Amino acid sequence: MRIDVFTIFPEVVEGYCAASLLGRARRDGHLDLRVRDLREATDDARRTVDDAPFGGGAGMVLMAEPVFGAIEAVEASDGLARPLLLLTPGGRPFTQEVAAELAGVEGFSLLCGRYEGVDQRVADHLVDGELSIGDYVLGGGEAAALVVIEAVTRLVPGALGNDQSANEESFADGLLEYPQYTRPAEFRGWAVPEVLRSGDHAKVARWRRARALARTLERRPDLIVARGGLSTEEVRLLAEAGEVHLLAEHGYDS
Ligand code: SAM
Repeated sequence: MRIDVFTIFPEVVEGYCAASLLGRARRDGHLDLRVRDLREATDDARRTVDDAPFGGGAGMVLMAEPVFGAIEAVEASDGLARPLLLLTPGGRPFTQEVAAELAGVEGFSLLCGRYEGVDQRVADHLVDGELSIGDYVLGGGEAAALVVIEAVTRLVPGALGNDQSANEESFADGLLEYPQYTRPAEFRGWAVPEVLRSGDHAKVARWRRARALARTLERRPDLIVARGGLSTEEVRLLAEAGEVHLLAEHGYDS
């Protein structure tokens, strides 16, 4: 997986991506991350990349010229990993599904905005798409790029160490994950559910499925609706798990 990142703060992206899962994925060759400084293509002493917005208003705008310059220089020398995606609050919502889509391509590039945003001609004539990591406004695209890089890299085969973990996690099949516990079996009087210590794998699997369904129905009913509601078998499983009230609250007869 090759990911090119264009930013005016390469050290921020490099610093985070040197540690933990991403650092290991880079060392093991699962992730070929190339962080590029947008100021590379400037030719003035102050390495200017921003200017005031036409029409007036607060703040500055990332100029088209250095952005086109930096990206086209990489395209000419190294080739560019496409699609090239601009990080912006107005972009396509970044979800686990989009992460899985990106994990399935050979590479992609991320362009981090700053200031009040990026000259619209970059969005219109240079990038292939736009991504948003949520309905809030960050100071720059770097944190958003890190979110995308980490979520995608976890799904690249081999990068996680245990590929099974990604299949069982939240959103993998449209559900939130079941609760996790580790030792000690009792902490300050709070005991781990008995079934998890029973050694009965079938029972553990049923308990986890029921907890994942109940948690999703309770916290994110929109996810249940998006997967077409609960099946008869899922309703029965939840009823057996004592979730009759929860089922009734969401219009299911048990
Ligand atoms: N004026 C812009 C607006 O209202 O949409 C916000 C600009 S924001 C201060 C600066 C940069 O941070 C953006 O160009 C973008 O690259 C990044 N950014 C901020 N919020 C983001 C989000 N939710 N998702 C992705 N990128 C974001």
